[in-house]
Amino acid sequence: MKLRVLGCYGGNTPGRGMTSFLVNDTLALDAGWVSGALTLKEQVKVKDVVISHSHLDHTCSLPFLIDNNFSADGFSLRIWAIPEVIASMKNHLFNNLTWPDFTSLPNDLTPVLKLVEVQPEVPFQINGLSIRAVHVSHIVPTTGFILEDKRGAIAFSSDTGPTDRFWEVVNTVDRLRAVITETSFPNELQDLANISGHLTPQTLGRELKKLKSEVPVFLYGGKPKHLKTIQRQVRTLKRRDLRLLVQGRTYRF
Ligand SMILES: [Zn+2]
Repeated sequence: MKLRVLGCYGGNTPGRGMTSFLVNDTLALDAGWVSGALTLKEQVKVKDVVISHSHLDHTCSLPFLIDNNFSADGFSLRIWAIPEVIASMKNHLFNNLTWPDFTSLPNDLTPVLKLVEVQPEVPFQINGLSIRAVHVSHIVPTTGFILEDKRGAIAFSSDTGPTDRFWEVVNTVDRLRAVITETSFPNELQDLANISGHLTPQTLGRELKKLKSEVPVFLYGGKPKHLKTIQRQVRTLKRRDLRLLVQGRTYRF
């Protein structure tokens, strides 16, 4: 499985995009920075997007991804998410106020956008990948995702504070190759992390004790203002194969 990091930050400054990964060139895992990172030629190849939750730093490039490619030959997009997240897309994003309702454009019969509901922990298939959504603990309905192909699997927690079910499911995955989870704030902002449903390096350390295998762990979601502190505090955890993701890099699992 090929995973290209389009954006991996919990905020947006020049050169730093928000959470989004491109899997095998055609699937976006969250969409905080798809149109910001990909050329038009690359964007038009994106056919599917799985969305973990409604927050803008995971969704904000969707309107532009669609708008940029609306008239491109054969372009269409499917967005996959749990029902609460799909409802938020309909009501708050593609609602003809914030942005046009592309689920009925250019017409109702052949719309450019399809919203597809998935059920937690029920596998669905996209382009050779089997994917499961698993609930995590954030301040809006949120799932992480486990992506599996014939060779291996990766687990992405999305935004979460301390959580249990995600780790329980991850521990049952065969051929797990890597975990991607978040560290948004430094330890000094633990109260803010608690009320906003995020991790700090110290709570990350406790979460990683729930992970039974020794697979590499990659971190995303750092707030740009606090990246250096987060990096330093993550190092003190002294876990082997624990590092921040690098934007622009392609990882193979
Ligand atoms: Zn969030």
